[in-house]
Amino acid sequence: MNKHNRRGSQWNPTDNPMLTGVRGLCPRCQRGHLFRGYLSLAKSCEVCELDYSFADPADGPAFFSMSAVAIPALGFALWLQTTFEPAVWVHLLTTLPITLATCVLLLRPLKGWLVCSQYFHKAEQGTIDRDWQRPKS
Ligand SMILES: [Zn+2]
Repeated sequence: MNKHNRRGSQWNPTDNPMLTGVRGLCPRCQRGHLFRGYLSLAKSCEVCELDYSFADPADGPAFFSMSAVAIPALGFALWLQTTFEPAVWVHLLTTLPITLATCVLLLRPLKGWLVCSQYFHKAEQGTIDRDWQRPKS
């Protein structure tokens, strides 16, 4: 297996974390997989062995998913209500499942995008540099 690309680096790190993450691929080699299950991350990449312990998107995917789905779902519910004036159970059988399914379907690509973005931007927990000093003037 040739580990070197044209630019001479060992791997082929992503320059588009959104595209790589949405496809669920490793941000370092773009060949291994991020996910072990639907939403659980693998421990490491099976191709380049990148340790995924840095990845912690927390509730970011859920927040962005709900934010993206809420307005169209509300629009659909309002259209349904004003057009047909259905009973509440119609919303329980249409609006609710559509909203939930759309949110769940968006979680995986959003999580992949956020994890790849963490790698790409070298995001990590903030720390205090105690050795830092103001320059003496
Ligand atoms: Zn990899």
